[in-house]
Amino acid sequence: MGYWGTAPAEPVVTEMIGPGPGAARTTESFRPDHDYHLQEISNRYHSSGNRIVYLGDWHTHPDGKPVLSTKDIKTLRRIAKYKPARAPNPIMLLLTGETWRLSASVLWPVMTFWGRGLQLQSLKLRLFQEASTGK
Ligand SMILES: [Zn+2]
Repeated sequence: MGYWGTAPAEPVVTEMIGPGPGAARTTESFRPDHDYHLQEISNRYHSSGNRIVYLGDWHTHPDGKPVLSTKDIKTLRRIAKYKPARAPNPIMLLLTGETWRLSASVLWPVMTFWGRGLQLQSLKLRLFQEASTGK
């Protein structure tokens, strides 16, 4: 969850939602608690005054490489096409290895030989400190 910055447009992740109480996890697969996610996304969207939106997904590759699998990329493409998600350029955050190295990718619009398409691109990560509220 977060928002899109302006020119150059970049996603700013402000919070992450966990798997949910009904999620099923193995080292090979992950099935999120879909109803929990919809509720959490809706809650955060409304409580932020419609500023914090769904940007994409995150998951781990505990023993794996910081590279999205074919299945991960299919998931991103499905999110991009799924209109109710309102995330035409979804991002995927990945935590990998023993040190939980963070990496990020986005499906970004490109012009191809066949016309408009979405291409997987890696994102450069920057960490920000939360702005002080003066309290
Ligand atoms: Zn994966």
